[in-house]
Amino acid sequence: MKILVCVKQVPDTNEVKIDPVKGTLIREGVPSILNPDDANALEAALAIKDTEPNVTVSVLTMGPPQASEMLRECLAMGADDAYLLSDRAFGGADTWSTSNTLAAGIRKIGDLDIIFAGRQAIDGDTAQVGSQTAQRLDVPVVTYVQDIELQGDKVIVQRQMEDGYELIEVATPCLLTAVKELNEPRYMSISNIVNACKKEITVWGHEDINLSPENCGLKASPTQVFRSFTPASKGKGEMLNGTVKEMSTSLISKLKGLHVI
Ligand SMILES: Cc1cc2nc3c(=O)[nH]c(=O)nc-3n(C[C@H](O)[C@H](O)[C@H](O)COP(=O)(O)OP(=O)(O)OC[C@H]3O[C@@H](n4cnc5c(N)ncnc54)[C@H](O)[C@@H]3O)c2cc1C
Repeated sequence: MKILVCVKQVPDTNEVKIDPVKGTLIREGVPSILNPDDANALEAALAIKDTEPNVTVSVLTMGPPQASEMLRECLAMGADDAYLLSDRAFGGADTWSTSNTLAAGIRKIGDLDIIFAGRQAIDGDTAQVGSQTAQRLDVPVVTYVQDIELQGDKVIVQRQMEDGYELIEVATPCLLTAVKELNEPRYMSISNIVNACKKEITVWGHEDINLSPENCGLKASPTQVFRSFTPASKGKGEMLNGTVKEMSTSLISKLKGLHVI
């Protein structure tokens, strides 16, 4: 069985700031991390590899050369091999363009049974890339996956909902997007860290994945950012004191005063 996990290197968003003049993200000096949902997706793939025979787990990212650091982290967690789609032509991609490029890379790798992605990246935050990639590959997709069980060439997944879950049977090849409730990602092991340093990362540009520059990056991106801004911070919270009865009476009168109730 061949499994591939789409992983994205993202800035640690707690520290991301927006340039007030240019309206763009200030990325300089901001640490990068493996997107959290993608760590859950990778853990799901590695857990299958732990229990099933002949499973290989690959990781794939589209990003700048420094994204190879995150790929090494994935190798150190236990992935078998890593692919980096990196080319100036891929720069400035929106989700349409990103999924087109990832799908071209996935086609080149070929013969995959399960493709994992995270539900959402914490920087772009659109949760579009997983489903769009599945559409381009013409494979079924299940989003918000919180549990997985393999049954031959089918996968039984729990799809998270607000008030419960759906149980869905999906045939392979398929694409599944992971949520954090799926598992607890493992730490890198010392032996895997040593192996990860020795492994080669396959780097492909647009020609390697048979994609013309017109079909990737900014040129193929129908969306453009009109404006980015930091929302104005809200006023300080007010703490109420007293017994529960006093606090609720006070709260009700304040809400009435504000015409909220
Ligand atoms: C309107 C708009 C305009 C944008 N313009 C630009 C721009 O001009 N320049 C620019 O650099 N960025 C731009 N972006 C950001 C860029 O589109 C996204 O970062 C990128 O397309 C991924 O989308 P996302 O972060 O929302 O991922 P999501 O859809 O939230 O990610 C879901 C999952 O898809 C997978 N995934 C996503 N991206 C990758 C990747 N690169 N490699 C591997 N797997 C991945 C991961 O598994 C991830 O968990 C723009 C975004 C929007 C919404």
